[in-house]
Amino acid sequence: MKPLHARYPFLAPSRTAVEEADVDLVGLIREDGPVVERAVERVTGALRDGSIGNAHPGTRVELLSYPVARVLVSLVDERICTRKYAHAEATRAISLFSAARNDTAELASARTERLSLSDLFAEFDLADALREDEEGYCVAVGTYLRLVSDLWGDEWRLVNRTLAGGEVTIASEELYSLLEEAISQRVSDGLPLSVPEEIAAPLESRVETVRSVLSDLDLTREIDTVVPERFPPCMKALLDSIQKGEHLGHHSRFAITAFLTSIGMSTDEIVDLYMVNSSFGEEMTRYQTDHIRGETSPTEYTPPSCATMQSYGDCVNKDEICEDEINESHPLNYYEYQLEQADEDELVDWREENGDGETATPD
Ligand code: SF4
Repeated sequence: MKPLHARYPFLAPSRTAVEEADVDLVGLIREDGPVVERAVERVTGALRDGSIGNAHPGTRVELLSYPVARVLVSLVDERICTRKYAHAEATRAISLFSAARNDTAELASARTERLSLSDLFAEFDLADALREDEEGYCVAVGTYLRLVSDLWGDEWRLVNRTLAGGEVTIASEELYSLLEEAISQRVSDGLPLSVPEEIAAPLESRVETVRSVLSDLDLTREIDTVVPERFPPCMKALLDSIQKGEHLGHHSRFAITAFLTSIGMSTDEIVDLYMVNSSFGEEMTRYQTDHIRGETSPTEYTPPSCATMQSYGDCVNKDEICEDEINESHPLNYYEYQLEQADEDELVDWREENGDGETATPD
């Protein structure tokens, strides 16, 4: 088992390494030691803040915790859990991959094994479906549609793309988004696994732990109070940009819209709120908002975690609540904390203040 296998446990060579090591996975699970501990951390971290947490220093523990985490996710058997877990694994893998590519010191080291772009293309059968050109990359349309099937945002829709000769053009910086999707699909592939009783029984209390984290998330989604002055700084800044009529990138629009739906705003209220900005067409805003709240899609999306907000440059004006109280975990946690701290009479819901159907923007 090599460090590269532990870094990218979803790769075929990593699976082979686990098989060849002939590990007694049932024994390891019964032992309930560091491998199970790390597996729980992978899944609960993914649910809490979209991150699978720091790697265990031991290559063997880190690698073996991946199949155990997939077993845990299978036993929980909730689509939101599988989806968030797969997404967190993919985000971590792409972040490691991109950091290693940019790390010239590592490049110089002949002893450090690295994953190349062509390795990833080969792993996901993309070598024949993807080629570089002067504008970025050209992707075979069938492959493109498969990879973007779960990606939110109108820019991924085929009608908004250049399609020529059966190929879709993407910008170089969009390649990582597609690779992330390929990894996420690989991680969730085959889930839920059919888990035999001899493995399920010793994991019972661990599954309960994951379920309890999942139910906390559901509670968070039940916030139904809109008090913009209590929003986290990142969401205040995004709202401010909308009010100023500025153009927002795909991830920023997704983040603020998912935040507003999560705190109980209706599609009509969000459409009203965005109307001040001419770059938000009513029809598209309605479509995107309904998609995010799960009315026209199989998934009810939650806003990105602080880690994801940071990676897209949307984490701005961090304050002491971000640093001390929520430990930069999730903008919804920030908002929930703020609502808990406030006196009841301080919390005037923006919707009550602005009356029925009146178009207004929060300060
Ligand atoms: S730390 Fe989190 S809540 Fe605070 S500004 Fe950044 S993304 Fe928002």
